[in-house]
Amino acid sequence: MDDFTVGRTLVLAPGVRRVVAPNGGPLTGPGTNSYVLGNGRRVVLDPGPADPAHLERLAGACEGRCEFIMVSHTHPDHSPGAAPLAAALGVPLVGLPPPETGPQDRSFRPERVPADGEVFAFDGFELVAVHTPGHASNHVCWLLRPLDWLFTGDHLMGGSTVVIAPPDGNMNAYLASLQRLKSLPIARLAPGHGPVLEDPVAVVDAVIAHRLRREARVVDALAAAAQPATADDLVARVYADTPVALHPLARLSLQAHLEKLVEDGRAVSTAEGRYRLRQAG
Ligand SMILES: [Zn+2]
Repeated sequence: MDDFTVGRTLVLAPGVRRVVAPNGGPLTGPGTNSYVLGNGRRVVLDPGPADPAHLERLAGACEGRCEFIMVSHTHPDHSPGAAPLAAALGVPLVGLPPPETGPQDRSFRPERVPADGEVFAFDGFELVAVHTPGHASNHVCWLLRPLDWLFTGDHLMGGSTVVIAPPDGNMNAYLASLQRLKSLPIARLAPGHGPVLEDPVAVVDAVIAHRLRREARVVDALAAAAQPATADDLVARVYADTPVALHPLARLSLQAHLEKLVEDGRAVSTAEGRYRLRQAG
């Protein structure tokens, strides 16, 4: 299951094919996972970047029987291929429209905007929309029944921590969306980057615990600061275990932690981008 060779269409389960886009990098791992689902009529999930060769491969994997193109969210590594692929195949786009802030693919204009829990039936399968804001406010995970695989987009990744970048990203929303997954019947997680993950509840619990440990470090760093601090002031201390080259990205999630502490009533913002712990009593 762990062949991430660009250009190879890998069958992960009956009716589940993965095609890795040629956009590997620090944020995308081996590249965006595009999925082609179904044996007869098919669905493309997250076409990825608008790379002609990649879109050609996705069209080929559909064998002329594509029904819908769905996306998890509209970050530039997930959806820019959707509009050209939809035009080539003559099928509708399904997903939540791009939000106003953050790096978004504005070419994504869905014909169908899935309600939370909405079911799309095709070829003996059902795809259920699970709204999961946090990494992006328009993020949707897709539950494929009856296999019970959850296609997680960037809500969960194999092998790395998801960046939560305010203002579109929100840490409280992210943690609530993670908690919510634990109430769903999920057999496996198929992320937008990296390998299929077994034991979904253990994966979700580990990610929540990791985020809360990081939050505790943010609280410690705020307590140690002589005056109200910015994310830039805190990043070296809070992410001392993370390579310095990744600190600019880590700083985004650190900002999300600071905003969560304010939402939770544990910290206050004293000026634009400056935070201190709320005094006890
Ligand atoms: Zn993303």
